Amino acid sequence: MNLQDFIRSIPDFPKKGIIFKDITTLLKDPEAFNTAADMLYNFAKNLGVQKVAGIESRGFVFGSLLAQRLKAGFVPIRKPKKLPAQVYSASYTLEYGEDTLEMHQDAILKGEKVLLHDDLLATGGTAQAACSLIEKAGGKIVQVSFLIELAFLNGREKLKGYDVVSVMRYE
Ligand code: IMP
Repeated sequence: MNLQDFIRSIPDFPKKGIIFKDITTLLKDPEAFNTAADMLYNFAKNLGVQKVAGIESRGFVFGSLLAQRLKAGFVPIRKPKKLPAQVYSASYTLEYGEDTLEMHQDAILKGEKVLLHDDLLATGGTAQAACSLIEKAGGKIVQVSFLIELAFLNGREKLKGYDVVSVMRYE
């Protein structure tokens, strides 16, 4: 099964010039969904992961599945003002402007082994900000995993030093 066959490319979404990779076409197919989850699980199964942190919102889908299969806890990393208790915040630059991610301060304990998951790695700014939140809490990042990696955008450069894995790579 070639999982890339289940990813739909939408030109000019959310704005002109961007070719958006749509993962909903993979999620709706039970076999493709399961195959992708198995691959993500196999990347991480021997790392002793204690918490899986998923980035809002598409990172929650496989992030929570992974947490269950790894017998780890799940931690949501969210857009600003969504989390109700005390948070750590990290801002990062986008092509135009800035964005912020937040995580509950008590979500991760000092020294816990954490896997960070998101659906897609583009420039790496989002994942880098999420890594800084996990480390602010004292977590040890043992893997950063993605369903899709847009390799031509060099997001890995921003995640140097981490074990970065992806199910599908677009060169
Ligand atoms: P980055 O910070 O440039 O690496 O962008 C990654 C973030 O943007 C992730 O949270 C993705 O969900 C989202 N993203 C960027 N491009 C796409 C896409 O083509 N499909 C789905 N999500 C995308």
